[in-house]
Amino acid sequence: MRGIGEIVERGSEGDLEKRHPGESRGPVDWIPASAGMTNIKMGNVLFIAEVEEGKLKGYSKELACKAVELASQAGGEAHGIVIGKNVAAAAEELGQFGVAKATAVEGEALAEFIGEAYTQALLEAVPALKPQVVLASASGSGKDILPRVAFKLKAGLATDCIDLKIENGKLKARRPIFAGKALVDVTFLSDIQMATARPNSFATKQADASKKASVNKVAANVAPSKVKVKEVKEAEKGMKDLTEADVIVAGGRALGSSENFKVVKELADVLGATVGASRAAVDAGYISHDHQVGQTGKTVNPKLYIACGISGAIQHLAGMRTAKVIVAINKDPEAPIFSKADYGVVGDLFTILPILTRNFKELLGK
Ligand SMILES: Cc1cc2nc3c(=O)[nH]c(=O)nc-3n(C[C@H](O)[C@H](O)[C@H](O)COP(=O)(O)OP(=O)(O)OC[C@H]3O[C@@H](n4cnc5c(N)ncnc54)[C@H](O)[C@@H]3O)c2cc1C
Repeated sequence: MRGIGEIVERGSEGDLEKRHPGESRGPVDWIPASAGMTNIKMGNVLFIAEVEEGKLKGYSKELACKAVELASQAGGEAHGIVIGKNVAAAAEELGQFGVAKATAVEGEALAEFIGEAYTQALLEAVPALKPQVVLASASGSGKDILPRVAFKLKAGLATDCIDLKIENGKLKARRPIFAGKALVDVTFLSDIQMATARPNSFATKQADASKKASVNKVAANVAPSKVKVKEVKEAEKGMKDLTEADVIVAGGRALGSSENFKVVKELADVLGATVGASRAAVDAGYISHDHQVGQTGKTVNPKLYIACGISGAIQHLAGMRTAKVIVAINKDPEAPIFSKADYGVVGDLFTILPILTRNFKELLGK
């Protein structure tokens, strides 16, 4: 087993055995002809931006800012790519974050997210942009597409990264391992270096409307997909997905019933937060699985995480331990969650949550 904190170099597995760490792959003549890519422009950073109802996702703006920073460190340009139907306006908006070039790949076949189709669309566009670094958010779709693209381009891929930088002209990625108990720095053997970044890991700079990107519209040329989206269910209105949320109020087994979850929902409502839950609460049927945080739920990275009646089992911590500020409310002073919390309240959540809700309502004038 590799030691914690050791630098791991990423390339294709077979090549790892044949080469010494740090040894270059040489020119990129190994890229399959089907990918149509014969060289790369050193320093260019391509990232995938996602849209919802025609608008850029918050974590895509964050990734745009990181891509601009990395490109300037590497002496290249940041290029954004937006895939979907009617996404040209979102591609244009990327310019406001300092992105030099934005490509909108549009088509009817891309109206709904299908990993296979989006991968084809991306592979069509990548050769023209010849990036050294390719990034996506560690969102549902980013996690779906990037490994497929990395495989096709024989590029090393580091997933779910919480920090990215350029060192010695190459991407260096920091990612949690062992359910978040340790961090590892990853460098790459491949010439093309890919990473997915955990949402809320980087700062988003203020958009500057005077900055413009050169926007290129491309009609997608993708083969008919083997799968079809039959239904898209809308998430709860006005509530951000857990993976994008800045503030999360989460409830555990202690809530006791779905009706009781209203004390968590009321506080979340006042704070503009998203409701999270432990697996015990989900398994007991108090709330649906899309609210579950943890190893078998979602990995979240909010600015504030309020854990109510959650013991802090390792599988729960795996999903939320990178939250910037953790507040725990638990009636057991020995609950493990307190060892990870920045602020702790020992007491009954049914007494404390209504007080917090009332006070925040007053403070925020709601
Ligand atoms: C393979 C595997 C994967 C798993 N994946 C996940 C996962 O993704 N997410 C996850 O959360 N769990 C996961 N688990 C389950 C995990 O091990 C725990 O069982 C679970 O997190 C416990 O949930 P809990 O903290 O809500 O419940 P408990 O551990 O029962 O804790 C309830 C807490 O509430 C406190 N409490 C009780 N009443 C009150 C009150 N009135 N006011 C204040 N505090 C009160 C108690 O003191 C206690 O600390 C997984 C387990 C396995 C084996």
